[in-house]
Amino acid sequence: MARKFFVGGNFKMNPATRAEKVKLVETLAAADLDPNVDVVIAPPALYVIPTAELLKAKGNSFVKVAAQNCYIKSSGAFTGETSPAQLADAEIPYVILGHSERRTLFHETSAFVAQKTKAAIDTGLSVILCIGETLAEREAGTTLAVVEEQLNAVVPLLSAEEWSKIVIAYEPVWAIGTGKVATAAQAQEVHAAIRNFLSKAVSPSVAENTRIIYGGSVSEKAAPELASQPDIDGFLVGGASLKPEFIAIVNVLR
Ligand code: PEP
Repeated sequence: MARKFFVGGNFKMNPATRAEKVKLVETLAAADLDPNVDVVIAPPALYVIPTAELLKAKGNSFVKVAAQNCYIKSSGAFTGETSPAQLADAEIPYVILGHSERRTLFHETSAFVAQKTKAAIDTGLSVILCIGETLAEREAGTTLAVVEEQLNAVVPLLSAEEWSKIVIAYEPVWAIGTGKVATAAQAQEVHAAIRNFLSKAVSPSVAENTRIIYGGSVSEKAAPELASQPDIDGFLVGGASLKPEFIAIVNVLR
């Protein structure tokens, strides 16, 4: 089965105003996007529902919306958190989990990210699961050990079927927001290793069918060569998702 190309836009804590957000989403809603690509945008929590409503109002059912995070419980005294059940109730189909900014700035461990992943999957959400090594880890030659540790936390919690709801985003931390894109060869090497890991740790068919997308300073310029790699099934785009360039990245295979 061919893996469908997937492009996510992670707005992070941007844009600064509702007016800018509306303009961004309206531009995307009106864009001519490759129908053979799954396109998902992740606005800040405050804008998740309005973004989904705006897309609907514009008659766009093609671009899907993701949250950038969620908690492990469905409700309760967890100030500041959003539950997977609330996202599902609001008909938000995706959530990004384990982004390096959450792992680093908010001290999320692999075990906690795995619990969140399980909670999201149990609630019917699809998960964009981010993994990746720091520069120090790459230089120490531990890239594969790091991504395997991050995935190993998730493996025992999911059934083989549940992997169909996971998109793995390989995002080397040193490439995120730095303008330093991994070379196509560097990214392909890790993507192939992740697929090999899935084959052994879960099953060959899960390895074959799971989308592994690359994130880290993806630009219109870098996208074609990265997209031509056999194990790169799309992108998670941060900074460039706030620019018209995002449309060109979505359409890279056209
Ligand atoms: C991201 O936030 O997931 C990301 C990859 O950011 P950027 O494209 O800005 O490096």
